[in-house]
Formats: sequence, C-alpha cells, structure tokens
Amino acid sequence: MATTVGAGFLDPQPLVGPFPSGAPAIFIDQVARIGGSAGIVAAVGDDDFGRLNVERLKRDGVDVSAIATVAGKPTGSAFVRYRPDGARDFVFNITHSAAGETKMTDAAAALIGRAGHVHVMGSAFAIPGIGAILLEAIGAVKARGGSVSFDPNIRKELVQGGDGRKLVDDMISVTDLLLPSGDELLVAAGEATEAEAVERLLDRGVGEIVLKRGSEGSTHFSKAFGRVDCAAFKVQEIDPTGAGDCFGAAYLTSRRAGLPPSAALLYANAAGARTVTKQGPMEGVSGKAELDQFIAAAGREEKA
Ligand code: ATP
Ligand code: MG
Repeated sequence: MATTVGAGFLDPQPLVGPFPSGAPAIFIDQVARIGGSAGIVAAVGDDDFGRLNVERLKRDGVDVSAIATVAGKPTGSAFVRYRPDGARDFVFNITHSAAGETKMTDAAAALIGRAGHVHVMGSAFAIPGIGAILLEAIGAVKARGGSVSFDPNIRKELVQGGDGRKLVDDMISVTDLLLPSGDELLVAAGEATEAEAVERLLDRGVGEIVLKRGSEGSTHFSKAFGRVDCAAFKVQEIDPTGAGDCFGAAYLTSRRAGLPPSAALLYANAAGARTVTKQGPMEGVSGKAELDQFIAAAGREEKA
C-alpha cells in the first residue's frame, strides 16, 4: 500500500506491507472471526506472500485445506494507492499468478461437498476459466438445498470485456443474496435508477439485495422484508479497503445464523466501520464480541 495519497505508481514512493489480502480472503476471514464455519478455494505460490495469507486464515479459523500451493508461480498481489478524492489505483498481479491457476482440485471438491452456501467474489473473474468452477460449485451446493451470495466487485482493472458481463448475468440468475456497492447495482441490473434496478433483480429471482453505501450506511431490499435502511457508524476512516468484504461476511453470517435483516445490517455496518479504522485490508476484521462491544459503545440497537 502506498503511504501517500496521489495518482498511481509512475514515481518512486514509500509503500507499506505486505498485508494479507484479496477480497475472497478478507470475506472468509471475517466469516470465521464471527464464528461461522468457513473455507476457501484458492491458490498461492510457494513464497512468503502465500504463507502470510494461509497462516492468517488458519489462525482465524478458516478451513485452508482447499488452498493449493502452485510450484513455479508467485502468489497473487496488488499494489494500491489512494487518490485525493478517495478513488483507488491498483496494479494487479492475479491472472498470471498462482491465483490464476485456481482449479477444481480434489480438496476443493471435498470442501464444496461439505458446504451449505457458496459466496462468489466478482474480483475472482480475473482468473481464467473460473466461471466453470463457480458454476460447478454452485450446482453442487444448490442441489443440496444450499444458497449463493455474490459480490459483483469487479474493478475496472479486472474487467474481461464480454466474458465478464456474461459471468455477471450467469451469477445473477443463481444468486440468493446480492451485495453490490455504488454503481455495481445499476451495472448488474442494466437499469438507470436504484429503484428500477432493485425491482428488476428481485423479479429475476434474487432473494435479497444489500446495497453498501460507504459512510452513508447500507440498505436491504427483498420481497419478504421490503426496504430496511441502516445508518453508518461514525468513525474516522483510515483505510476503506476491505470494508465491503467484512460488511458482506458479517451480513451473510448473521442471516445464516437466523438474524433478521435489521440485526444483520447492524452487525455488517459495525464490521465495515471497524475495518476502515485500520490500515491494511484484513487488519480490521472483527470478532463477534468486538462487534457487540462496538455496537453497545455507539449506543445503537437494532431498529424494529
Ligand atoms: P470495498 O470494495 O472497498 O471492499 P465497498 O465499496 O464494497 O468496499 P463500502 O460501501 O465502501 O463497500 O463499505 C461497506 C460498508 O462498510 C458500508 O455500507 C458501511 O456500513 C461501512 N463503512 C464503509 N466506510 C465507512 C465509513 N467511512 N464510516 C462508517 N462506515 C463505513
Ligand atoms: Mg465492493
């Protein structure tokens, strides 16, 4: 991570890291920290960046049995620098990294065989051939009555043209819980306004949509519960990377534990808010007790 604000990486500059990261890893780490049972299908190189990630996930209780170590390829990495307006520039090394070799290994099939839910990160669409793996995993879990969540967090740097668009559409048609932020909702639905996009997606069979609004909080939409808004917690933002992933993980895990949308949003907003107060994408991941404490200290409780 660049330690200064500015535009990109065209000049020498100070950096801090490495930090364990990657949207899928941040998400699954937060699921485990809240107490959900969690595993990840991934691939790393035989290097310190890979070990750093695997060790963090293992420490936090994630099943790492389906993380393959790929010989002769480096672990995927990303460099990020913030612009003055809060936008980010990235340099990614994913497609040609070990992550680009993510396959349906025996260990991955075994993990999926134990799963009741699959979460898909749009950022993973940078991996060649990932569509077939995702659809196989989703088919297996859905056949057992399981469910699917999808965060369409496709960075401009990662879009693969028409293939990426088709994958988004394929994903929408099997998604029970959609977790977009900002314009991703409009892009996913192909509609011009928030209300139209929500209606279109719910009509297409998406069970719940939870829209992330950064420092403006979040909103749940579904046919069952209607619209439920949740204001953000007031915190000092140090580093927003990872907020959406921690938010989504806390929401999903809370819903799967049986909480209603209003309570799940409160945990999710708390997880997102705590993340932005720490530098490093995974450094602000919260345990359940930390979230309860944070919510109590803010004097917030679930709205009816
Ligand atoms: P990313 O893609 O960087 O992971 P995102 O765009 O998917 O993030 P955001 O909307 O930025 O997701 O953040 C997710 C949630 O985290 C928000 O809905 C909000 O609840 C919380 N959050 C994010 N930024 C702030 C902030 N500055 N103050 C308080 N809460 C925040
Ligand atoms: Mg996002």
